[in-house]
Amino acid sequence: MNLFRRAERLQQLPPYLFAEIDRLRDEARRKGVDVIDLGVGDPDLSTPAAVVERARGAVLRPDYHRYPPYAGLPALRAKIAEFYGRRFDVALDPEREVLVLIGSKEGLAHLPLALVNPLERVLVPNPGYPVYRAATLFAGGVPVDLPLEPENGFLPRAADVERACPAKLLFLNYPNNPTAAVADVEFYREMAALADRHRFWIASDLAYSEIGFEGYRAPSFLAAPGSRSVGIEFFSLSKTFNMTGWRVAAAVGNADLVAALAAVKSNLDSGTPQFVQDAAAAALELADGEHLAPLLEIYRERRDAVVEQLRVLGLAVEPPRATIYVWARVPAGHDSLTFARYLLEHAGVVVTPGTGFGSRGQGFFRISLTTPTDRLREAIRRLSELPAWTGSA
Ligand code: PLP
Repeated sequence: MNLFRRAERLQQLPPYLFAEIDRLRDEARRKGVDVIDLGVGDPDLSTPAAVVERARGAVLRPDYHRYPPYAGLPALRAKIAEFYGRRFDVALDPEREVLVLIGSKEGLAHLPLALVNPLERVLVPNPGYPVYRAATLFAGGVPVDLPLEPENGFLPRAADVERACPAKLLFLNYPNNPTAAVADVEFYREMAALADRHRFWIASDLAYSEIGFEGYRAPSFLAAPGSRSVGIEFFSLSKTFNMTGWRVAAAVGNADLVAALAAVKSNLDSGTPQFVQDAAAAALELADGEHLAPLLEIYRERRDAVVEQLRVLGLAVEPPRATIYVWARVPAGHDSLTFARYLLEHAGVVVTPGTGFGSRGQGFFRISLTTPTDRLREAIRRLSELPAWTGSA
């Protein structure tokens, strides 16, 4: 008998749809192909020097070598509240409404453990960031798909939400991964009203808050009337400050939800290292435009180069207003996986098949703009030399 058996909750996870692409990518690399990976959404740009400097000093503090306070350093929580006031016009009480996280993925993944009982329903966007579904399953909850369709700007429809009730929790994510769609405060107000009427909580994932183009600035869910009584928001420094590897973010909003998440966390982890929290405070002190303007200019330039080339290839694609992604339809005759395979085999370029984000990603692929510009240009050059699309590739 094999005593080593994984828990059943692991077997509930959807099949890992990137596996096939990963295998082909590794095989191509072994054969010596210079593969360009436009799949991963991990910024190639550097963490700002002032942030690194602050960490360098803070790491020497002996008091920082001990466990951090569970909710995070008070100074960082105050900076997060200040940032929310300045940027989103949202007032937060740093003591009751701000909790420091080890990256927003950690908080999003732990939230269902704090709120969801076995067999309770959780509304998850499809396509969407896969963590919402996995975390729901780990908590014993039942993920219920909320379709995000291009005809509705990749926003869930109120009627679909109502039909899916009763539910305990709804995940929202704007600016959106993978579709790059954006939401306005009116949409958030509508969702908050539904949550109040049908008694479910809302988790707003704001990981891409600062990445907007042509002056677009994403609102916070918490700016919507009625949001504070039903919702919690996940704010991350990862993409804004090129700090994915530092692991620091925050959960903010409804004090009861923040306390429930803190209760889970205090039993499972001991927080982000204090020198990282100091570095995060330094990032939030940066003058808003000074760091962001050059960063956004780089992403805008990359976005335009990618969109232009995809259009030359005959693909219908709109330049996204936000995020580090371009989400586009695959050409006729292909599905998500055959097209990703085609690009890898004919151009040595990896893109993410839309089905990696759920069944409703079928027919789409995602390009990430986080590759150095010269490599991205090389990928585009290769795309421009592709033979005509063939559905049988
Ligand atoms: N939410 C979304 C939609 C993401 O795409 C990501 C990362 O790619 C995260 C959350 C997690 O970000 P982090 O844990 O680095 O804060």
